[in-house]
Amino acid sequence: MSRKTLSLTPRLYDYLLSVGVRQHPVLEQLAADTARMPEAEMQISPEQGAFMALLVELTGAKRCLEVGVFTGYSALAVALAMPEDGRLLACDVNEKWTAIARTYWTEAGVEDKIHLRLAPALETLDNFLAEGMAGSFDFAFIDADKTEYAAYYERALELLRPGGLMVVDNVLCGGKAADPANTSADMLSRRDFNASLYQDERITLSMIPVADGLTLAVKRS
Ligand code: CA
Repeated sequence: MSRKTLSLTPRLYDYLLSVGVRQHPVLEQLAADTARMPEAEMQISPEQGAFMALLVELTGAKRCLEVGVFTGYSALAVALAMPEDGRLLACDVNEKWTAIARTYWTEAGVEDKIHLRLAPALETLDNFLAEGMAGSFDFAFIDADKTEYAAYYERALELLRPGGLMVVDNVLCGGKAADPANTSADMLSRRDFNASLYQDERITLSMIPVADGLTLAVKRS
């Protein structure tokens, strides 16, 4: 027994996947195809996808937001978990990656649920706010360029309804978040981001060691 989160050996991780994650066949194919890309580590892990899908199902989220699509695994996991009238507004700037994403969304039959916005995400989020969409989202997933996390967070928090859930990816930064020897500007800003959420009374907070670290934040009313 352990009071701490286990460090997963490869064998234990494989076991977890084998009995703990039911991956939709299109998700499985997408993961396998993306794994051959040089940027493969940008893809979320299967257990993270399953966890996010469960959160979407649990909360009954119908209006979802994603910042950082890559090849579309997380968007597909979320879209599959939403009801038929659910909508995911997905932000990215990369045409090549999101073209791959679209083919899998179509193959899984959820392309109508996902509305892709190909533009800098801050612009898209500011447009949503200008269009009066503040307080209208149930769920938001932030997984784009880490230097802009604080700006994405502020906008996403405004777009969420009270009680809405935000999930922020890569908050442990491959372990570097806690390495005092790493004082790069990027890491300092990411530590600042984590510390600022810890102090933020507008949210209920839980950082969990799934994959590269997830912060769950529920918007308080
Ligand atoms: Ca990520």
